[in-house]
Amino acid sequence: MKSTKTAQKPFVKNEKVWFGTSPVVCDLCRASNLMSRRNFVDGKTVFGPWAIMCLECHMLVGAGIGDGRGQHYRLHDDGRWVKIGG
Ligand SMILES: [Zn+2]
Repeated sequence: MKSTKTAQKPFVKNEKVWFGTSPVVCDLCRASNLMSRRNFVDGKTVFGPWAIMCLECHMLVGAGIGDGRGQHYRLHDDGRWVKIGG
């Protein structure tokens, strides 16, 4: 099988969309409003447990982006959270 990497585009086929309840605040700092920041990471922390976190917290304690580490979602204008990384 040939494996090809495609560039991340705003709209792609087979895009992954967040189906859970729309997150409101960061699990870690409880201060970042994720709707207004339009981004969150559902990912593993360096402490072990997973969390929904803002990008700042992810920079500090996130275990990274990728399979088994974390997924980065961005809020589109139509209200969907679309995975853009991980
Ligand atoms: Zn945070």
